[in-house]
Amino acid sequence: MGLKIYNSLSRQLEDFSPLTEGHVSMYSCGPTVYDYIHIGNARTALVTDIIRRYLTYKGYVVKLVQNLTDIDDKIIDRAQTLGTSPSQLARTNGEAYFEDTQRLGIQLADVHPKATEHIPEMIKLIQTLIDKDAAYVVDGSVYYRVNSFSEYGKLSRRKPEDLLAGARVEVDERKEDPRDFDMWKAAKPGEPYWDSPWGCGRPGWHIECSCMAMKHLGETIDIHAGGEDLLFPHHENEIAQSELATGKPFARYWVHVAFLKINGTRMGKSEKNFIFLRDALDKYPSEVIRHFLISAHYRHPLDYNPESLQTSESALRRLNNCLETLKKYDIEEYNSASQDISQADTALLSAIETMQSQFTDAMDTDFNTAQAIGGIFSLVGQVNKSFGTSSGISHQTYSRAYKVLSETCQVLGIYTMNEQDVAGTAEILNPLLELLLEIRQNARNQKDWDTSDKIRDQLKQLNIEIQDTHEGSTWKFRS
Ligand SMILES: [Zn+2]
Repeated sequence: MGLKIYNSLSRQLEDFSPLTEGHVSMYSCGPTVYDYIHIGNARTALVTDIIRRYLTYKGYVVKLVQNLTDIDDKIIDRAQTLGTSPSQLARTNGEAYFEDTQRLGIQLADVHPKATEHIPEMIKLIQTLIDKDAAYVVDGSVYYRVNSFSEYGKLSRRKPEDLLAGARVEVDERKEDPRDFDMWKAAKPGEPYWDSPWGCGRPGWHIECSCMAMKHLGETIDIHAGGEDLLFPHHENEIAQSELATGKPFARYWVHVAFLKINGTRMGKSEKNFIFLRDALDKYPSEVIRHFLISAHYRHPLDYNPESLQTSESALRRLNNCLETLKKYDIEEYNSASQDISQADTALLSAIETMQSQFTDAMDTDFNTAQAIGGIFSLVGQVNKSFGTSSGISHQTYSRAYKVLSETCQVLGIYTMNEQDVAGTAEILNPLLELLLEIRQNARNQKDWDTSDKIRDQLKQLNIEIQDTHEGSTWKFRS
């Protein structure tokens, strides 16, 4: 079975075959850098990273482009609030984005184009659309004429009447049709601007992605990825602009990543219920967050809560224990012909083969990381059980297990955790909790119940339970 990708355009699982054999061009919508990214944004970036790693693992040469939107209303507004310049704010948050995503083990894309560095190309693309009568100029702004593209709505499957009624369509007297959207915004006083044939202004968000994707990857790209919230209008508009300009399909496979939820609702800045990725990374090792974020298939919702993070943390501990122990065996290429094979070897070797094909089948089925992880951990359980027993498993078989497990875990990026991270957590956590218990005991001795209860209740919120016994207090993680 080859790779199949769920294409949002056809709403079907399709066989994947890139335009140029052996090569994959991929574009992923990057952040608008007006603030740090939250862990929901990180899910999209991580899925992109894993798709790229898996395609590379399968032998494709992948070129990944991910943009930075460094000029936008949100950036201008926030810079004004903070009393800084939009360019300074975008620079600082752009750097923070790379810092945070690299901490999460996300590899850099091949190109990270910035919108402000592609203004001449955007102007050229807008001019092409004007020349084709697909755009019009009003008071220094340029609008895309949605009516000129008969396939408009093919990605979102929205009918013209739905589009007209859509709440996101702003009322703007200057538009010929409420569905039209701006590709060039005339400058307002105090805002950054660039010169253009239509006067001073700045590009709209949708034209940025069309332009940067085509400049760095060509007129037709293989995979276009982004969060599901970008499907409409952003991606619909990218298609309209690009396909009308070139007359060619813009992206062949559209991949949309589902929202991360928190307490059952979408995690988002506008909902004000988000956790910055950097704050999460201060609390948990990055592989734990990666494991959590890919513990569900990317098209399924996933809920962020401390229990899930703890489940990931203990899973990673089991994985680490397994791989670190396996590593101690001689790492030699397994050669079945040269060895006497015990029954236990045969059983484990067959489990390894099963896991390897499960991994490929799962990842080939629209990058189903949840199933892929399931297979990995079932093998990890088997291997861990065999340690310390006279199982009769040879070093060569263990070497084979190490090779297959570490390779697959590296595709998912969940095995780079150094032992220090794991040990470090326990090393710091134990004495810290002993100290807290001692402070609490002193408070209790002095009948300071407020302090004593506060420590107990706050630890409870962190899922740590204190048990008071005759011999003193102990703590444990709540299950
Ligand atoms: Zn985009």
